[in-house]
Amino acid sequence: MNIAEWLAATARRRPHAPALLVGDRVVSDYAGFAATASSIAARLAEEHGVEPGDRVGLYLANTTHYLECLYGIWWCGAIAVPINRKLARNEVATIVADAGASVVFTDDPAVPAIPETTFLRVTGDVRPEEATPSPAAPAAPAAPMAREPGDVAWLFYTSGTTGHPKGVMLTHANLIAMSLCHVADVDAIGPDETVLYAAPISHGAGLYGLVHVRTGSRHMFPPSGRFDPDEVLDLARAAGRVSLFAAPTMVRRLVHAARSRGEDGQGLKTVIYGGGPMYLADIQDAISVLGQRFAQIYGQGESPMTITALSVQEHRDTGHPRYEHRLAGVGTAQSAVLVRVCDAEGRPVPPGRTGEIEVKGATVMAGYWRDPAATAEAVRDGWLRTGDLGQLDEDGYLTLVGRSKELIISGGSNVYPREVEDALVAHPAVAEAAVIGVPDPEWGESVIAFVVPAEGADIDERALDDHCCDLIARFKRPRRYHVVPGLPKNAYGKVLKTELREIVTAR
Ligand code: AMP
Repeated sequence: MNIAEWLAATARRRPHAPALLVGDRVVSDYAGFAATASSIAARLAEEHGVEPGDRVGLYLANTTHYLECLYGIWWCGAIAVPINRKLARNEVATIVADAGASVVFTDDPAVPAIPETTFLRVTGDVRPEEATPSPAAPAAPAAPMAREPGDVAWLFYTSGTTGHPKGVMLTHANLIAMSLCHVADVDAIGPDETVLYAAPISHGAGLYGLVHVRTGSRHMFPPSGRFDPDEVLDLARAAGRVSLFAAPTMVRRLVHAARSRGEDGQGLKTVIYGGGPMYLADIQDAISVLGQRFAQIYGQGESPMTITALSVQEHRDTGHPRYEHRLAGVGTAQSAVLVRVCDAEGRPVPPGRTGEIEVKGATVMAGYWRDPAATAEAVRDGWLRTGDLGQLDEDGYLTLVGRSKELIISGGSNVYPREVEDALVAHPAVAEAAVIGVPDPEWGESVIAFVVPAEGADIDERALDDHCCDLIARFKRPRRYHVVPGLPKNAYGKVLKTELREIVTAR
């Protein structure tokens, strides 16, 4: 089944329901959205010779056009290649060439020249007409091209914190399973809800939007075109029942803005966070300011948004004897997958032991694009090796301790950066922290912390040291601190630890 069938079905069921909005302004209803997608599909096929299975890139800012083009690509049976708009042009060229995209939609006036690739400027001209809510039901758009469940829908270039980006092949079946898990395990979606795209739609926020097409939600784009916490709070208050996907750094900024405005997140239905570590102190702070409207997902490009989840209900279950332990983790396996933790030989370890997290099931990618060797390395007997280290407890709740490549071995003992970072951000003077290991002649490796001071706070290293010794074993405490104004992050907000290592080496 083609996932664009969900748009066609919603357009039939609720043609006049508002679909695409810029702020509170409705620019298209579902009938108009489907008609535009269908006409983009016709144009791709007729004018550009795009055939089912061809790759079509999306190098666009978060706008309503983005969703129209995405569904236009699927409607004609092609494969979408979303590219983060924050990537540099040479990075874009690498992805476009690797994917072999024949057409790329872009709003960049100075796109790179790539032979064999046509760049289609998305201004007003992609749309057949200035979209307004259709006054009467338009003629039913032609149906989406038939696709098999195993056909690729989304070629997802991983964020590349660990090297050359690889194209993850996500099939229509993967995306459908991912979306169904959302309503089963993360957050139920009722009628007349709004999904706000405050994070790059080329990544988690875009994936998160698919189920909202099925349910017929309003898809709202902030007029600023970026993540502005004050704007998010204003839009949520005005619209009500707004949900959004946010990286942990965005949640922190939202909490900060709400606190300084004396607000409690009125109008926000659910904030779904994930994509990077959310420290216990931060989520507790977020709940104390914005209330109980949070859910967490843990996933990766290779099993998008869908490895584990900590649902809204579990966030609310404050009376549970293991509440804090659960809140510090990433929840339990989502409905479509099995999750296990394995030792270096790939054997499952008992609860409480640390190992590499593996996942198997309907959301696991079909493989890496044109890279069977990398696929064979990542997926064995259907089990995807995530490269993340964690522990399962007796109840099936997973706690992450870091990436396998980040594990620090100091004096023969394992130190997981995550537990040290968790301890550091629990100190009121610390806004953000990142921990790495560096070579040390005596200890093998030693623990180094980068800390960003909280607004107006001074970092007192001795006080931080005492604080860490209260919370974690002495050998895990950082041997050195670097106080920095901010942490280097990639386009998706993930901390670039390789850059931190380079800073230490250069000093
Ligand atoms: P990407 O493939 O770019 O989405 O990155 C996926 C990686 O982000 C995972 O393998 C984890 O290391 C990290 N990640 C995703 N979700 C979470 C989460 N909820 N908590 C901590 N780390 C996460």
